[in-house]
Amino acid sequence: SARPRTALNECVKVVVRCRPLSEKEKNEGYDEVVKVWPERGAVQVYNPKGQDKLFTYDAAYDCTADTQTIYDEMVRPLVASVLDGFNGCVFAYGQTGTGKTHTMEGTPDHEGVIPRTFRHIWAHIENTASPDVTHLVSCSYVELYLEDVRDLLAKDCKKLTIRGQELNGFYIPEMTSIVCKSAAEMVRVMRAGNRNRAAGRTDMNEHSSRSHAVFLVTVETAHRATNRIRDSKLTRILQDSLGGNSKTIMIANIGPASYNYDETITTLRYAHRAKAI
Ligand code: ADP
Repeated sequence: SARPRTALNECVKVVVRCRPLSEKEKNEGYDEVVKVWPERGAVQVYNPKGQDKLFTYDAAYDCTADTQTIYDEMVRPLVASVLDGFNGCVFAYGQTGTGKTHTMEGTPDHEGVIPRTFRHIWAHIENTASPDVTHLVSCSYVELYLEDVRDLLAKDCKKLTIRGQELNGFYIPEMTSIVCKSAAEMVRVMRAGNRNRAAGRTDMNEHSSRSHAVFLVTVETAHRATNRIRDSKLTRILQDSLGGNSKTIMIANIGPASYNYDETITTLRYAHRAKAI
């Protein structure tokens, strides 16, 4: 491919989002130890035992920022480049209770990044509709738990095997892939997967702190006039990621309360290192 390679760290954006104190935390009288400086992308943590700590990122959002803003400023450009043929990945990281589900999935009142992505994809498809272009959108949903990969869209969350190797890319041959025709249909697939995920849990706390859910969307665009995108999909995906044509956004979620100090610092350090990988 003649596409220029982009330095990897330019392809990884790290964003911090701090949630508000909960009612319970307010009632229990916890102090806030996190101060966000959105215009500087900085997060300051008051250290009761010494100097404050200051970390800077590509962006930092305080409790007044809504998911719409984070989507428009950070995620929208990534999804736009996916619709241009790049690979893109958005993930949320952080201690339990800091807002990962709120950010990614949201609720019907506060739509998260994932359903916003669905609507974005379908708006693009409707805007570019023409007799010469066809789009195929398919979804998969897996859970990583310890060493296992489970198919959240298959009966009994069937266990899957990852094939491939680091240099050539990984793939999961038996993963369920559901073709969707609208954003609403994709939301239904996501909810079905969430129900399966919840049903498979025995110990909630133990499980939720070690389980990672990955929702995968593949958008294929076919141009009827030329036969060029007949390339194997897998080959394209591998070429793209090997060529550096892959973008990632890490959203590090933190809580503001003093009793979370240690976890907050751990998350902020990890997020800071992610930028240097
Ligand atoms: P996690 O998925 O990281 O365990 P949740 O997304 O479930 O955390 O968030 C924990 C609680 O905090 C939920 O009740 C959620 O609604 C609330 N919450 C998280 N982030 C925000 C936010 N930015 N604004 C308002 N409430 C939030």
